Amino acid sequence: MIKDSFNRVHNYLRISLTDNCNLRCFYCMPDENYEFTQASKLMQAGEIEKLATLFVSEGVNKIRLTGGEPLVRKDAAQIILSLSRLPVELSLTTNGVRLHDFIDVLLESKIKSINISLDTLDADKFKIVTRRDLFQQVRANIDLLLKHDIKVKINVVMMKEFNDTEILDFIAWTKDEPVEIRFIEFMPFEGNRWTGNKVISLEEILVEITKKYTFTALEGGQNDTAKHYQITGHAGTFAIISTMTAPFCGTCNRMRLTADGKLKNCLFSVSETDLLGPLRRGEPVLPLIHECIAHKAAALGGQFSGLFENIIPDTIHNRSMITIGG
Ligand code: SAM
Ligand code: SF4
Repeated sequence: MIKDSFNRVHNYLRISLTDNCNLRCFYCMPDENYEFTQASKLMQAGEIEKLATLFVSEGVNKIRLTGGEPLVRKDAAQIILSLSRLPVELSLTTNGVRLHDFIDVLLESKIKSINISLDTLDADKFKIVTRRDLFQQVRANIDLLLKHDIKVKINVVMMKEFNDTEILDFIAWTKDEPVEIRFIEFMPFEGNRWTGNKVISLEEILVEITKKYTFTALEGGQNDTAKHYQITGHAGTFAIISTMTAPFCGTCNRMRLTADGKLKNCLFSVSETDLLGPLRRGEPVLPLIHECIAHKAAALGGQFSGLFENIIPDTIHNRSMITIGG
């Protein structure tokens, strides 16, 4: 079992397959000319399987593949299929662009639920945020998953003066479709143009929804990062991930493995523990995993606390989101 010094059991591993991506969301990949990590420095498919198996032997029962965009990796299908043989709940976070190429693999690997990022329902605004003209493709791929009865959760990063006017449009989507809309508070990472006044808080989102709908809070799981709700009579649900205004660190069970094989004990952790180097040199990796998690801070990587409005973005030390794996 992997436990930290606050007795939190860590049974959920998020593995980034690559820092490469076919979109350029400005809040995630700050620089259009960002240089992606060389393939030889990334964990290879066999190394991912070996490391995942080690984590599973220590009690991990949930693995999420992320990135960058996990589905741009040439061997993504091989990796998905190999991890689907482990005794874990396997899932994926993707921008949805290439899902149509992977539908057979997803069905074969029995993935039940997929998170897809879509920050706007307007094709022109999609082009602004992602710097690519692929809205219709993503939208069609969401329908493709629904057709195959794969649960779809839509990740929407909420930013003032960008998509704050679309909250009710996203909610309207839940009327007839069994989708879960997950509104995510905008988080600060190196170079991502974050400022406190761009954050749309959990409270503001709920106030906006109350203008048109009545909803009930749903019971969540023990380690949920999201607070869940449902509009009366709607087929789908919505949720809010309130990292900035109401963090959920007290029940955190998550660890992150970057595409270059570094373990981060928190999304905001400053330090990282290299697992890939020792694995390649044939050195023991398990003690490194336990030590890394033992040093986890109580909350938010120990980097900030209190009012998010007081955060000075330049003082935050972290990789950009695309190199961590969201
Ligand atoms: N490419 C995939 C995708 O877009 O879903 C997976 C990787 S992406 C880094 C994972 C998630 O992190 C996405 O839902 C994205 O919206 C979210 N994300 C990235 N930067 C963020 C930020 N600054 N604040 C909040 N969420 C962010
Ligand atoms: Fe790519 Fe996902 Fe980051 Fe957008 S949020 S740039 S799709 S990794």
